[in-house]
Amino acid sequence: MLSLVWFKRDLRVADHPALAMAAAQGPVLPLYIIEPEYWVQPEAAARHYGFVTECLADLQRDLVALGQPLLLRDGDAVTVLERLRAKHRFTQIISHKDSGSAWDRARDQRVAAWAQEAGLRWLELDPDEVPQAEVTALPHVAEGTGALPSARSLKLPEDRCDFRQKGGREAGVAALQGFVEARAPLYPKAQDSPVLAERGSSRLSAYLAYGALSQREVAQAAAEVKAARRGQADWVRGLRRFERQLAARGAGASPAGSQDAGCEGPQYGPDVDRAVRFAAWSAGETGLPFVDASMRYLRATGWLNARMRGLLWSVARFHLGLDTRAALHLARSFTDYDSALFWPQIRQIEGAGRPMILDPVKQGLLQDPSGAFIRRWLPELAALPDAALHRPWASAQARRHLAGRYPEPVVDPASAAKQARAVLARQAKPRSTPIAPRRAPVAAGQMCLDL
Ligand SMILES: Cc1cc2nc3c(=O)[nH]c(=O)nc-3n(C[C@H](O)[C@H](O)[C@H](O)COP(=O)(O)OP(=O)(O)OC[C@H]3O[C@@H](n4cnc5c(N)ncnc54)[C@H](O)[C@@H]3O)c2cc1C
Repeated sequence: MLSLVWFKRDLRVADHPALAMAAAQGPVLPLYIIEPEYWVQPEAAARHYGFVTECLADLQRDLVALGQPLLLRDGDAVTVLERLRAKHRFTQIISHKDSGSAWDRARDQRVAAWAQEAGLRWLELDPDEVPQAEVTALPHVAEGTGALPSARSLKLPEDRCDFRQKGGREAGVAALQGFVEARAPLYPKAQDSPVLAERGSSRLSAYLAYGALSQREVAQAAAEVKAARRGQADWVRGLRRFERQLAARGAGASPAGSQDAGCEGPQYGPDVDRAVRFAAWSAGETGLPFVDASMRYLRATGWLNARMRGLLWSVARFHLGLDTRAALHLARSFTDYDSALFWPQIRQIEGAGRPMILDPVKQGLLQDPSGAFIRRWLPELAALPDAALHRPWASAQARRHLAGRYPEPVVDPASAAKQARAVLARQAKPRSTPIAPRRAPVAAGQMCLDL
């Protein structure tokens, strides 16, 4: 039986249950679709596409080695699939479940409706629930491989990211080995520090987000080294902590819909000058050194540790009163952007009852006490004495030195945080007249669960 394996965010052949299942039943058409409509969504960025194309190059190499090259097609998914079906008469599509965005779900619904009408079976596997099986060879099916469109032809705006991690299976395996075999003991100390995290964090997120590595193989590699290093406390502690973090990315953590773009909630900052505040924040020019250093680092590398991601969003949301537009800027900036992880994190910082209003000065003093991170990413501040580095606006001498080179803060962080707390307190105030819960009429004989 000829099967079509649709690769999405699972760009590898190792530990790929969909490919293994299809290969066990006969020849396979492996397909990746570049969907122009996806790449013009507001969260898409050229750095994502760059990473994906590198993953596809490795995937192509590995599939060619197995005997059947990857088919690259660009266009609408239903049109691409229909064209291939008309030519090859495959009888089933196998892919991995993908807890994607609203756009992905809408596309999948159209594909499902088309497949049903065409009498095709579409199997969507949960890769973690299917036993591991490796594919050793694939019979060749004659079909042109196709080519990748350029980022420009997909209308992706230019996006310089000089220090982006290289995509692909090979780079992913190297990062995994480097972490479990050398860097893991640094992990607990490094996680929160922007200086140490660059090396001490696993740096596997983008490889996991695009599936160049499977979550299962990463977990297995960590468990094996942990067992081999039993008795070495720093290794065991580091790997245990990493395993907990990795488990957080389980698909079940984000119910359908929670990954949809957007942030709701009150308006924290003033309405006026929001465009100016957005421009300053996104350019790393708010005048708040630790925030600006984090933003410039993110722009240049495509990566940040979780604490700094939280800080950038907390300041955008609570101090500067920004909303979805700022969140989308972050989504475009993270090479590892994954809607199933990103949007729940964005909402969590606004928090149901526990908003995280982080103090950018305090965080800077805590996470970058020597100022090395600020000095590296804000060279215009390099000559400032330590005492003025985190709050240059409070020192007349520092202000004179920076005049015309680095902006005054766009907001006073202490009073902006106070205002945001006041907005939240007003929101939390109970209404004077309690509102009776609305109940939908219950059909006779039906059980009523009043939750
Ligand atoms: C506002 C915000 C947005 C975020 N957006 C993304 C995103 O789009 N894509 C993404 O992969 N991560 C996201 N994260 C989670 C986290 O910041 C990154 O996964 C992590 O910094 C990546 O670095 P690492 O691979 O070295 O992580 P490690 O600390 O080494 O963690 C190992 C792996 O666990 C997973 N992981 C880590 N933290 C979390 C978490 N809190 N929830 C779920 N899974 C986690 C990641 O896959 C990561 O690669 C976001 C966090 C915040 C606060």
